[in-house]
Amino acid sequence: MIHQPDKSETDAERVAAAVDPDGLVALVQSAVRIPSVTPNEAAIAAWALGQLEADQWPTTGSTDVNGDRSNVFATTGGSRLDGSGRELGRSLLLAGHLDTVHADGWREQWVGTERESPYAAPIVDGEIWGCGVADQKAGICMIVEAIRAVNRCGFRPSGSVTALFVADEESGQAGSGISAGMHAAVSAFRSGFLPKPDFAIYTEPTTSAIYSAQMGFLIAEITVTGRSAYFGRPELGADALKAGHELLARLWQHSDDIAQLACHPLVGRAFLVVTEVRSGGNVAVPGDFSASLIRKILPGETVDHAATGLRDVVASIDLPDITTSITFTAPRDHPLGGTPSEVRIDHPGVATLATSIEAITGTAARLEGAPYWSEGPFLRDLGIPSVYFAAGDISNCHTSFERLNIDELVTATRTLAHFVASWCGLDPIGATDAAK
Ligand SMILES: [Zn+2]
Repeated sequence: MIHQPDKSETDAERVAAAVDPDGLVALVQSAVRIPSVTPNEAAIAAWALGQLEADQWPTTGSTDVNGDRSNVFATTGGSRLDGSGRELGRSLLLAGHLDTVHADGWREQWVGTERESPYAAPIVDGEIWGCGVADQKAGICMIVEAIRAVNRCGFRPSGSVTALFVADEESGQAGSGISAGMHAAVSAFRSGFLPKPDFAIYTEPTTSAIYSAQMGFLIAEITVTGRSAYFGRPELGADALKAGHELLARLWQHSDDIAQLACHPLVGRAFLVVTEVRSGGNVAVPGDFSASLIRKILPGETVDHAATGLRDVVASIDLPDITTSITFTAPRDHPLGGTPSEVRIDHPGVATLATSIEAITGTAARLEGAPYWSEGPFLRDLGIPSVYFAAGDISNCHTSFERLNIDELVTATRTLAHFVASWCGLDPIGATDAAK
């Protein structure tokens, strides 16, 4: 039998109430206690697979990313079909990444306190502290616990729910952070190995707001080459640092210029940040200069257009015996970088999630733009509308102050369980099994 809307609303509330706060906190703590700095995700992947296998996910597995790295996936529900073989409920993907950034500097920050280890996960003033707790072990655990709550009430989702935990999302470790896991997952979706859902939530931290839009980005390395010469004979050299100084001025002017072009209602304005410069070192005319930068790209802009703008600025440095070059070093869903993305805010998935947030918190959902790039654009390219939603605040992630408010974690997980029930519908476990 299919539940009527008024009945399923009640069931959604029951499922939300079935989230176990103590079990959820313990789950997050055990996840934090398994270090998983990119590319060392094997232990956390095995742990996550074990959690899913312990539950009533009928299908679980892992797929190779490369070497001993893997993605973890599981699918539940969706076993009741209509006459034409389609699932009775709407399907859903709940995605997250397994890796974290490094914890360099953490111990020095907290030496002699209960927070000294980045992997101890102590609770201090109602918050769990640790490397990766919000980015994004909380999101992984929210997915596990939300489906546990559905099962605890004797239900499975009517539409199928796929959990997908990928490797290699984070930047910062040499030779990794190119979305190798998500590239492998895309192949699995394209081949039909993983079912393509009607909607997706990627559980990056959003302070429990709905992030329906995100920036794109380019990371560029620029080199300026001149000619070094003894300091007392500067006329024999070509000063790369002076040329770099002029280049920096033009780059910051370019940042001001692109900021004037447009303002996205959720993502704001484009800009670039010069993140590092290097030059000189000898008692001599500096012969080399280099700079790193990141360029924010708005939905509506293209990565290629942004790259052309940067190339033009670099090429505009026209000085005797000075040469310049620019390379883009962080390919993601685009060979040069990551593309911007947005989903219609009137998409039924967004509206249903907003309704669940309101039902659980009693306040209107916040619809915002992500102040980061993550892997949603890969899902967009598969034709899967997706948003980010989870507990946690990105502004303390990637720092020695990363932490997660427990009340927010529990509320967001109740919201996710409510959303699964509302979006996918619910079937009693017995009825689902009988219908198989
Ligand atoms: Zn993240």
